[in-house]
Amino acid sequence: MTERPAGGPDGAWPPSVDALARSLSGLPQPLLVDAARQAIAEGRPGSAQDLVDAWRRRLLSPVVNATGVLLHTNLGRAPVAHNQPAVAQTVEFDVDSGERGSRQGAVGGLLARLCDTEAAMVVNNNAAAILLVLAALASGRSAAVSRGESVEIGGGFRVPEVIEQSGARLVDVGTTNRTRLADYRRAIEQHPDLALILKVHTSNFRIEGFTETVGVAELATLGLPVVVDLGGGLLDSRCPWLPCGPPRWLGREPAAVQTVAAGADVVTFSGDKLLGGPQAGIIAGRADLVERCAFHPLARALRPGGLLLSALQDLALTYLRRDGLSIPFWRMASASVASLEARATALITSDRITPAAMDAVPGAGAAPGTTIPSFGLAIVGDHLAALRGAARPVIGRIHEGRTLLDLRSVDPADDPSIAAALLLISA
Ligand SMILES: *Cc1c(COP(=O)(O)O)cnc(C)c1O
Repeated sequence: MTERPAGGPDGAWPPSVDALARSLSGLPQPLLVDAARQAIAEGRPGSAQDLVDAWRRRLLSPVVNATGVLLHTNLGRAPVAHNQPAVAQTVEFDVDSGERGSRQGAVGGLLARLCDTEAAMVVNNNAAAILLVLAALASGRSAAVSRGESVEIGGGFRVPEVIEQSGARLVDVGTTNRTRLADYRRAIEQHPDLALILKVHTSNFRIEGFTETVGVAELATLGLPVVVDLGGGLLDSRCPWLPCGPPRWLGREPAAVQTVAAGADVVTFSGDKLLGGPQAGIIAGRADLVERCAFHPLARALRPGGLLLSALQDLALTYLRRDGLSIPFWRMASASVASLEARATALITSDRITPAAMDAVPGAGAAPGTTIPSFGLAIVGDHLAALRGAARPVIGRIHEGRTLLDLRSVDPADDPSIAAALLLISA
């Protein structure tokens, strides 16, 4: 006797798509119908609910970031909480005059105050910020970049390609490992159409050994606008928003305030890296240059929505209140190792799980090469898939044959989710 595949919920064969779809749950009806149809077409109607469950797991969903990479690009970089009721907002409205206002005015003003610049504006991410600055200030002309800074940041962001897209021409300056002020001077002599000097933070890599770079203060003596892509978005190297000042792991990460003080005319940076906010790109600097960006036709295509602006406004006000510990990124980064150790100890339910010291990293190319002392849990073997299978998936990492769960990148409120996931492997 040949084995007959399982029929539909009513035992009919072939099962009806509708009947099978009605027996499924977890997604809107049209998707249940799709799952039923696909499962029947594959001759496996019994797998329809598994398909629905697999599709559900592909939806954007909350996870616990126990990777120890605080700004994990695949996990949305800086965690941000933002709730906004469905109400009208003064996105482009001036309440005093009753007339149309500037979308960039409110948040731009706060960010300019934080960066100590004349003006600032917001676009959708830092790649957009650099594209807009180059298009507005150098399109049809040239932009000088040190060869050592002509980098690829990841996710398709390559400095030479962004310059090309902006309509500007790249002028390579110096060599991969050494660029001197004299190299920039020669570039200026040879390229009378040079519109600006672009300095790029080489976020995710370091050149070591026989190297030389030119600082912003020296670049500012050359007489051309100096644009600095800071990448990371550290506002001020003194970290006045933290009770204990700058953490040691920050090292010499460049910051907006100090870069502007050194003579940069424009700085750009991401909103969701060290700034600790939503995905955004910030352009801060001289009022005349920021204005040229704001009035460039591309600005309309790159403009942020009210949701982003109000999240950034909350963040800017938090910085101005110097309340850094209520910014999730800075809270994670500032937690004491002792507090992480206490949480790790409280999570141990089996002798297969041991507390362990480990190193976290800021991530997202910020402060490359530094580590933040951390603490978490270690389990011999690779349990990543089991942990990802939890109701609230827990994302860890493997190191030397052990599964590590780093608590520095985990909000303490998520510890119960880790406890629940651990049950799946200690069973
Ligand atoms: C991250 C980064 C970018 C890209 O920023 P997005 O906000 O991801 O678009 C550009 N430049 C540098 C130096 C960076 O570190």
